[in-house]
Amino acid sequence: MATIADNLQRVKARIAHAAQAARRDPAAVTLLAVSKAHPLARIEEAIAAGQRAFGENYVQEALDKMDALAKNERLEWHLIGPLQSNKTKTVAERFDWIQTLDRVKIANRLSEHRPVHLPPLNVLIQVNVSGEASKSGLAVEEIAGFGQAVAALPRLRLRGLMAIPQPGPDVAAQFSRMRELYGKLRQDLGLDTLSMGMSDDMESAIAEGATLVRIGTAIFGQRTTQKTAA
Ligand SMILES: *Cc1c(COP(=O)(O)O)cnc(C)c1O
Repeated sequence: MATIADNLQRVKARIAHAAQAARRDPAAVTLLAVSKAHPLARIEEAIAAGQRAFGENYVQEALDKMDALAKNERLEWHLIGPLQSNKTKTVAERFDWIQTLDRVKIANRLSEHRPVHLPPLNVLIQVNVSGEASKSGLAVEEIAGFGQAVAALPRLRLRGLMAIPQPGPDVAAQFSRMRELYGKLRQDLGLDTLSMGMSDDMESAIAEGATLVRIGTAIFGQRTTQKTAA
């Protein structure tokens, strides 16, 4: 059976190949290991193989893992699931990045609660790139205005945009829309991060300019449960 270290090597090779095919520097694409629903032992294997940045969807599950792994130096934790306003204080205190920002109220609270002894909290604005009513994230037309508001908050550092496309034949077109939006706002808002691409579509995302890919299954295998903690 393939080990986590083997899987990480394979994913890095896919990233390098996709970047080269798009005439991009493979080092310009960060690998975020999405560890949601996977036990500590597997995360520890990934850490032993050199992985430092981890993504989690559920706040409590992430906090438990952070506590258990605190002896490891310099891990970087990204919240990639929805953020409720009653959790903003904890999230501002414990995470390094929030990738799913889409409400002014939450942005204000995160800035308010980010402890002064920590660097500003890195944030990505989630874009509803498929345009589906049920999806979280802001519409493409709302991003510029919201971005200006977020950029003005003292304890947040706006880094870029994140999207979860609607799966199907239209995925490449959604990534392409993201590339266009990111290209438009990048200079004005000082952005450096475009988070898109998962296990099944990282090549297509990298071809459209992703600078951070969020990879779960291709590193850790299938998730057996939807979630391990509320
Ligand atoms: C679970 C999840 C991922 C990882 O998906 P895989 O298909 O397992 O690579 C990436 N991004 C988000 C927002 C997720 O919820």
